[in-house]
Amino acid sequence: MRQSRRHVLKGTGAMFLGLAARVASAEPEDQGDRNALVPRKSICRWPAGQSPQISDVPLTPAEISQHTEFVRVAIALSASAEKHCNHPFGAVLVLPQAGGTGRIVLRAENRVFTDNDPTQHAEYRLVSDASKSQHLTAEQLRQCTLYTSAEPCAMCCGAMFWAGIRTVVYAAPHDTFGSATFRVPSREVFKYAQSANDVTVIGPILAEESIPIVKTYFEKKVGEESNRCRIALHI
Ligand SMILES: [Zn+2]
Repeated sequence: MRQSRRHVLKGTGAMFLGLAARVASAEPEDQGDRNALVPRKSICRWPAGQSPQISDVPLTPAEISQHTEFVRVAIALSASAEKHCNHPFGAVLVLPQAGGTGRIVLRAENRVFTDNDPTQHAEYRLVSDASKSQHLTAEQLRQCTLYTSAEPCAMCCGAMFWAGIRTVVYAAPHDTFGSATFRVPSREVFKYAQSANDVTVIGPILAEESIPIVKTYFEKKVGEESNRCRIALHI
């Protein structure tokens, strides 16, 4: 177990350095996506007999405000994940309520290091817990919105799709995280998902609150914060 955990940290060491250098600029590296920090709502679909499509519209301030409460909870979970010696990412699942904005039914933090499992992203864990929950029906999952502190990777988009969750709201955009990630926007992944139900991607929202957490984390991980977590994890 110790060797395995050490392997995980060693393998990600180069990633930390790369990410630290990358986020130091605080600007998306992908200059091709000039609207990366503009909050927008995208409907992703692939109608039968047609090409894959993304319908992209900017969000109004009122629409943005509908999501800020839950995005902030996801961002708070990202800070909590860091305190627990994992990558700073968090996610919550929200079930709509009659006459209201919805209620949080599940929360998850990244647990890649503490579980010694690189698949334990916050969104992936949230989807897994939701799918196994005795309290959520398949129809309720389709109605739920997944809020995450950062745009989900291709793995987590796939998990969402297979679980039937059709709406995701994120804070920090995917190109905040440097080169050691799938450099594919969630919208592009969902564009190729064939289903009777469209997938809606909303974000970035409150990116200015999420990006500094990631930036600070990866800068610290190069130095003494990394040592503190190695001691805490006995590796
Ligand atoms: Zn992921």
